Amino acid sequence: MPLPLSARVDHRWSMRQISLRNLIRAAGLLACANIVPALLPAQQQVDVLIRGGSVIDGSGSPARVADVGIRGDRITFVGNATTSRVTATKTIEAKGLIVAPGFIDPHTHTAGDLSSSTPERKANLAYLMQGVTTVITNNDGGSPIDIGKQLDGWTKGGIGTNAAVYVGQGSVRQAVLGMSDKAPTPAQLDSMRALVNRAMDAGAIGMSTGLYYAPGSYSSTEEVIELAKVAAAKGGRYDSHIRDESSYTVGLIGAVNEVIQLTAPPVASTVMPAGPLARLKVRVPPLGLEAFTV
Ligand SMILES: [Zn+2]
Repeated sequence: MPLPLSARVDHRWSMRQISLRNLIRAAGLLACANIVPALLPAQQQVDVLIRGGSVIDGSGSPARVADVGIRGDRITFVGNATTSRVTATKTIEAKGLIVAPGFIDPHTHTAGDLSSSTPERKANLAYLMQGVTTVITNNDGGSPIDIGKQLDGWTKGGIGTNAAVYVGQGSVRQAVLGMSDKAPTPAQLDSMRALVNRAMDAGAIGMSTGLYYAPGSYSSTEEVIELAKVAAAKGGRYDSHIRDESSYTVGLIGAVNEVIQLTAPPVASTVMPAGPLARLKVRVPPLGLEAFTV
């Protein structure tokens, strides 16, 4: 859950009410009546107060013990709820626990769950219960061709997490060339460009590839670049399950170099920024070694 600046602004705002004039007035009242209402910050009511947790707010600041107040779907308070006189309908004791914004998982295969008609699957509980509140999906080159329909379905049906999607290059290729390993004709390449363009207009955040898998593996680097240019023109990102994880085809170094060719100068100005290299999977079979970065 994001910690909006407004939370701190609200708090500071209430503290700023203690102007010098009020302070002097309050001191007078203190002398007279032992009552100091002007020195106390205004009382604030929240729906939920998460009390005493170790807050890591995502800004890079070290963890700090603080109470977090939520009203509606907004964080309206971060600080000491007792001294700030924050009252809550519901209080969650979080002492000894970490309170953090929701995590973003940049490589998931949750599209099927989110599109399911089963409430438990749509709720995406497996991610939510691990603190992931935003999933990115349609990775590895596989996606529906009609991204607009996918997103509309989620909007109408409701899903349990936030979600963002790529358009999958492998699926685009399959829609035009089937499972053929042939290079596309100029007309077929145009058809693929049009599908990527339509997907970007419908809300895709970029293009994913799964060049390790058929039919994505049948695509030359140049073919992928041509489609990447279309997504890049709409501000898209490039996300790849790279072409090789070991020494099966172009080799690991060759596969990483291909990603660099797709995303780094001199091509980058016409292609796109790299998304996270969401899955750099390395296999060294003789050693039984397999490593992932996610
Ligand atoms: Zn994957």
